[in-house]
Amino acid sequence: MTNDLPDGLGLQTKALHGSDGLNETHAVTAPIWQTSTFGADSAEHMAAISEADQPAEFYTRYGNPAHRQVAATIAALEGGEAALVAGSGMGAIYAAVMTLLQQGDHVVTQQSLYSATSKLFRDFAPRWGIERTFVDQTRIEEFAAALRPNTKLIYVESPSNPLLLLTDLRAVAELARARGITTMIDNTFATPVNQRPLELGIDVVLHSATKYLGGHHDLMAGAVVASESFINRVWEFALVSGAVLSPFDAWLLQRGLKTLGLRVERQNRNALALAQFLEGHAKVARVNYPGLESHPQHALARRQMSGFTGMMSVELKGGAIAVKSFVESLKLAECAVSLGGITTLVVPAAAMWSHQHTAEQRDAAGIGEGLVRVSVGAEDERDLLADFAQALAK
Ligand SMILES: *Cc1c(COP(=O)(O)O)cnc(C)c1O
Repeated sequence: MTNDLPDGLGLQTKALHGSDGLNETHAVTAPIWQTSTFGADSAEHMAAISEADQPAEFYTRYGNPAHRQVAATIAALEGGEAALVAGSGMGAIYAAVMTLLQQGDHVVTQQSLYSATSKLFRDFAPRWGIERTFVDQTRIEEFAAALRPNTKLIYVESPSNPLLLLTDLRAVAELARARGITTMIDNTFATPVNQRPLELGIDVVLHSATKYLGGHHDLMAGAVVASESFINRVWEFALVSGAVLSPFDAWLLQRGLKTLGLRVERQNRNALALAQFLEGHAKVARVNYPGLESHPQHALARRQMSGFTGMMSVELKGGAIAVKSFVESLKLAECAVSLGGITTLVVPAAAMWSHQHTAEQRDAAGIGEGLVRVSVGAEDERDLLADFAQALAK
């Protein structure tokens, strides 16, 4: 849905007012339209809504008033013309990618990608006659060298999982623009609070809204933000691919978005404090966090990000044994997959990636036995540091 807010509003204001005007009731908090279908006033009305683009009130796979509100809010946050919401991050990614591509096309993407996205490009794309090249995201010259006459898409993720490596977004956008190639980014880790890729020239922004946008570990959702014309095309494909966001989850997402700025700013602050504490700790070999000067791409982070996220990974000196004792000793932080929620979660990276990669592939990718990924929550900073300190002491 498009939005027409005044220019120049701050991000937290947009989070609160991004869908003003789309709640057609007098309820200050919009209700949940928990319905699969909507009635028409007449046969003519039915004919009109059945032919409309993205009707908010026809059949919930086509749209729902809650979809419209949450999409308008996300579009406003990213500074995009329009957005589409889906039932999961992968639902959004799949719909956007497959809207663009056809047999014979070529994709340039990164070696380091979210696992299911990697599987989409690595295992499924070839079945549909789509070629792809995987490059080192930190080397823009590899992107340039991989381009072919049939390259249709450059697909990136920055910061990436679990090493928090960055892609130079402006450089990628320039490379693609000059050749008419579409660029897409998975902006899940950064959120629009910390990075607005459309401002850097990227064409399409994707989110697993299950993570920071929802923010409370209680829903699954995804989003695509792009031009209105591309979103209309994605909508047509999404009707067929079918990853529909439930009206209740859309309502929860709208509620979560209202505090996005507050949560992420707090998570950024907590993460920097934790990263600095861990970097100075005797049992820690390395901390991967874009906000640290020791991060190899810290200068790029300062250029293209407005905050350094709540995500980091930490390499413990004691390897797998130290990781086991550490994650089991944490009292506040919980050992669980997913990220971006209000409470701190940790995952032993080697265990999490073991089903997709052999030990050699993990080592080559820099995912050692001692690596722990941390999604920093909004707890009080001193409690968080104390929890990590006592767990490291064990
Ligand atoms: C979780 C995640 C996804 C997939 O989102 P779902 O909501 O789980 O489908 C995609 N990209 C990134 C970076 C993620 O963290």
